[in-house]
Amino acid sequence: MKQIALLSATHAPGLGPDAEAALGTIIEAAGGKPGPYRWLSPGHALEAEVEGNPSLTKAREMLGEMLGEMMGGIPADINFIPADGRRKALMIADMDSTIISSESLDDLARLAGKGDEVATITARSMRGELDFSQSLKARVGMLAGSPTSLIDTIIAEAECNPGATELVTTLRRHGVRTVLASGGFTFLTEVIGGRLGFDAHFANTLVVRDGVITGEVTDPVLDQHSKRTILDREIEALGITPDDVATIGDGANDRGMTERAGMGVAYQGKDALKAVTPYWLDHTDLRGMLWLQGYDDSMITRS
Ligand SMILES: [Mg+2]
Repeated sequence: MKQIALLSATHAPGLGPDAEAALGTIIEAAGGKPGPYRWLSPGHALEAEVEGNPSLTKAREMLGEMLGEMMGGIPADINFIPADGRRKALMIADMDSTIISSESLDDLARLAGKGDEVATITARSMRGELDFSQSLKARVGMLAGSPTSLIDTIIAEAECNPGATELVTTLRRHGVRTVLASGGFTFLTEVIGGRLGFDAHFANTLVVRDGVITGEVTDPVLDQHSKRTILDREIEALGITPDDVATIGDGANDRGMTERAGMGVAYQGKDALKAVTPYWLDHTDLRGMLWLQGYDDSMITRS
């Protein structure tokens, strides 16, 4: 089975001219033979066909060792991708700390003056130490009695991560269905999904009554099982298979969909998520999701 090795980095100043030599050395050290090189994005994404069956673990070790001496010390990612079936027909993306830079529930809690208590629970939940729906209900409960003006502030402050616009716009232009699936709240997935042009969005509903956050969330809570269920529903509706799906997320509650998808990507992923997938983007912005699938800069668009 032919594979592609992709070296990517979006930190300034990007990959230099010695990146081709570096990628070749990495592939050989990992037990493969590099084929022709192709820049998907000059300075940011370089790929090579690979013969043999190199070890990804070894390649990542080698990349880490080489950073001091080559490529200007720029932190970079290396991924191996099967050459066949590389472009997917459906993308499901997590929102908090993936498509947007913040954790919306933490931000709500901070505005409500409960930041420290809630952030502690969030961190434990993202590491997989707490059941997601129990911890979500506990955190939302702390917000009881807070004014709904906090929600307007969260919406106003939410910022998309670099590459989010290119990711969603480019996929839609190429006929790929895009779905936003969040353990956060519909008040924000609706706005972010609409702003970026996602085809659909799924999240939890924060209960509001008489201008006040009641501290309740509507059942059933959307958790990691739900994200996997969304994936299954979507592929059935589209008549495709899990192999045709790419997902992207960062936390433990993304594990279900990540394991199921043909290309489940961990974006600045927590260890609990990286443990279940070989696809890691730690030093590449969201355009990395396009480069992994073989889109080059001539195909990537912001509008
Ligand atoms: Mg997340």
